[in-house]
Amino acid sequence: MSKKIFLTAACSVCLIIADAQVDSTTEMTATLRYVGDTTKPEATEFYKPVPPIVTPGKGFGDAPSDAIILFDGSSLDKWESANDTTKAADWIIDNGELTVNKKGGGSIQTKQKFMDYQLHIEWKEPTDIEGKGQARGNSGVFLASTGPGDAGYEIQVLDCYNNTTYVDGQTAAVYKQGIPLANACKKPGDWQTYDIVWTAPRFDASGNLTDSARVTVFHNGVLVQNNFKLRGVTRYIGLPYYKAHGASSIKLQSHGDPSKPISFRNIWARPLN
Ligand code: MG
Repeated sequence: MSKKIFLTAACSVCLIIADAQVDSTTEMTATLRYVGDTTKPEATEFYKPVPPIVTPGKGFGDAPSDAIILFDGSSLDKWESANDTTKAADWIIDNGELTVNKKGGGSIQTKQKFMDYQLHIEWKEPTDIEGKGQARGNSGVFLASTGPGDAGYEIQVLDCYNNTTYVDGQTAAVYKQGIPLANACKKPGDWQTYDIVWTAPRFDASGNLTDSARVTVFHNGVLVQNNFKLRGVTRYIGLPYYKAHGASSIKLQSHGDPSKPISFRNIWARPLN
């Protein structure tokens, strides 16, 4: 057998195997199901469901048309105290910015509860931030709040522009679980962005974990967490674990370190289910 004939025969076998795999895979998703003659291009071309048209914002970070505006610079109506959900969020709004109230009632969380979502949030370290390690502009975005205080799943907010700490606790870490793929920090005083895709964990009726939580994070447009699979809630001491929960609030951390408080702005979310 010539080399050419052999390669042709081998490729034919590959095609047959590939077709068999496609045919035996009854679904790629709930809606993409290969049918018919898979040697024809039409067999792998779909026209439904049609993705909805969403008008993008004019600039990077501007909310698209279907976003839920969680903070627009003027109101904390969408937020409540995380430690006492009967109380209002008491952080400070000034000049369109939302600043942690370190003398107040602690962390704040959204009144609305979410499962899977896309989140955009901007944050800024004070220009004259002081302290080091974890005590330098520490805050956090909890992707699902599972209780008061620091209960939940935290993406770290910290000044790591010129500051080192344990890498699984630096800026954009999945706290004590996932080291960020890059340090994309801007200098204190500059506004920074997190764009996050959160897939909530799933549990069966008995409370057993059926699907782990996953998170993708862009920090200032740089991919820093790529579909990271969480091992449970993020914890300062001890190992992560899962405990069944459903839709949850998004929480912003008031951290106890003595450094100056950080600020947030332009917070919006797009629920994905
Ligand atoms: Mg933190």
